[in-house]
Amino acid sequence: MSVKELDKQYIADTYARFPVVITEGKGSIVKDGEGNEYIDLATGIAVNTFGVSDDEWVAAVTKQLHCVQHTSNLYYSEPCAELAKLLCEKTGMKKVFFSNSGAEANECAIKAARKYAADKKGAEYNTIITLKNSFHGRTVTTLAATGQEVFHKDFLPLTEGFCYVEANNIADLTEKVADNKIAAIMFECVQGEGGVMPLTKEFVTAISQIAEKNDILMIADEVQTGNGRTGKLYGYMNYGITPDIVSTAKGLGGGLPLGATMLGSKVEDVFKPGSHGSTFGGNPVACAGAVNILSRIDEELLAGVCKKSKYIVDRLKGAEGVVSVSGMGLMLGIETVKDAGEVIDECRKNGVLVIKAKNKVRLLPALNIPNELLEKAVNVIINACKQ
Ligand SMILES: *Cc1c(COP(=O)(O)O)cnc(C)c1O
Repeated sequence: MSVKELDKQYIADTYARFPVVITEGKGSIVKDGEGNEYIDLATGIAVNTFGVSDDEWVAAVTKQLHCVQHTSNLYYSEPCAELAKLLCEKTGMKKVFFSNSGAEANECAIKAARKYAADKKGAEYNTIITLKNSFHGRTVTTLAATGQEVFHKDFLPLTEGFCYVEANNIADLTEKVADNKIAAIMFECVQGEGGVMPLTKEFVTAISQIAEKNDILMIADEVQTGNGRTGKLYGYMNYGITPDIVSTAKGLGGGLPLGATMLGSKVEDVFKPGSHGSTFGGNPVACAGAVNILSRIDEELLAGVCKKSKYIVDRLKGAEGVVSVSGMGLMLGIETVKDAGEVIDECRKNGVLVIKAKNKVRLLPALNIPNELLEKAVNVIINACKQ
């Protein structure tokens, strides 16, 4: 049986896959085993930060694999401690809890916020405001946090205590804060799955002011926007705010499953032994890779991300069949006259992998994609957008 047939027969039918079997690659080029090569602007959904089988990352991961692949959290582990130090030094956050995915990083953020509010203000302060059109994960609680009914409908009842505010609507936010007992406000500064929609500076500033005034925690979901994706190390850094809790995953591990929940000074001591845990969380191999990834996201790399972003936006804006370009850094959404799915198919047939977010064509290239590959890929996209 072919891979596609095996998949169809034995894998739960949760994904609408593109008709490509990715077998190998290097940097921003991936191959399908049938002799086809693609320029990869999808990076496994913003996961392969430095592309596929990046030499430095492979070396860091391999070195750790030869030492020990897993220890459990019953013992100390050097890569895990190193990574936590690096995250705190680079963000000013105080402590880190490690998990294996974005949903888990958000679960931890939600638990931390609820415990802080219960300890400090009373157990009735348990509501968490999230935004309409947000995406926070697929577990029952992070689904509840996700402000999109389409994801909820078959899985009720969900975890209680979430309330949804329209993105960029300060009046709605003010009203919901007044009407509920709020523990935290949680948001993605660029809504990724929601269609690559950046929040406005005014709205994020209002969140920050309202949070400060009411002792409400600010949770930045940086699962997709984190780790250099937006041109800053974390997306919130574009807005001049300081969240109390930052969750991240996707690009942090550079390709291995790793989630992190960073706790700021208000909440650094909220957890005690037994409050939370994970068997795999902080896996030494994943952490060794992440130390390599994070230590390479420096000012020079981030300047490159901004430059590449500007190049893409400048070329796409005003191109035939392009309605608008949204996003930040190397997290961009193209609204097209043609159906986005059609554009994506045409790009793939011409050797460029891009993905969808709502009705948009979404680009999430490697942060170090070579300029000549980017130029080639943009040419293909521009052609595919034409009617
Ligand atoms: C992808 C994503 C998640 C969920 O991450 P998983 O690793 O799939 O659990 C949560 N929040 C945001 C903003 C995401 O983009």
